[in-house]
Amino acid sequence: MVKAMDIRNLRIPVDTIGKAGIERDVVLSPEEFESVLDDEDLKVHVPLEIHYTITRKEDVMHASVHVKGEIFTYCSRCLSPMVYSIDRHLESDYMRAGPGMNEALEEARSNPELGYYRKEIFLGEYIMSELILDLPARFLCDPECKGLCPYCGANLNKGPCSCSGEVEPRLRVMKKLLDRR
Ligand SMILES: [Zn+2]
Ligand SMILES: [Zn+2]
Repeated sequence: MVKAMDIRNLRIPVDTIGKAGIERDVVLSPEEFESVLDDEDLKVHVPLEIHYTITRKEDVMHASVHVKGEIFTYCSRCLSPMVYSIDRHLESDYMRAGPGMNEALEEARSNPELGYYRKEIFLGEYIMSELILDLPARFLCDPECKGLCPYCGANLNKGPCSCSGEVEPRLRVMKKLLDRR
């Protein structure tokens, strides 16, 4: 069964995980995913699909997660609209938390492949923090994107521009300032 949900509520009570384990599909609505991303330049138009299985070996749980989705944004070099595809596989063991451990088990996590639980596995928080950590600092439409001509602003992916490469006097000062960075 597939149902839309609040990702923060994707918590799995450990006592519901039997010997056979569990396997589920959930989707995160575009609105919900956008609010998690919390960046005006990142838009979402399709639901984020999450497939997960959790198996157990005595007190150790193992989560295997696959996430698929899309983020609509702009290339930071040529400024063209682009789609960033998410197709990510995550694997994490979960061990019983010790008494002295931080209350916020996911915030305290230092290893993407090892988490801790008390009564529940905070699967949603894990998935979202891994996805956000994985986002590039600068989105590129293509690793080879040629960007814009610094003189006339033409998109160089569409072919060479027709300007002479001469800087207009007014732009010259600005270019000097930019070159200094
Ligand atoms: Zn580009
Ligand atoms: Zn040009």
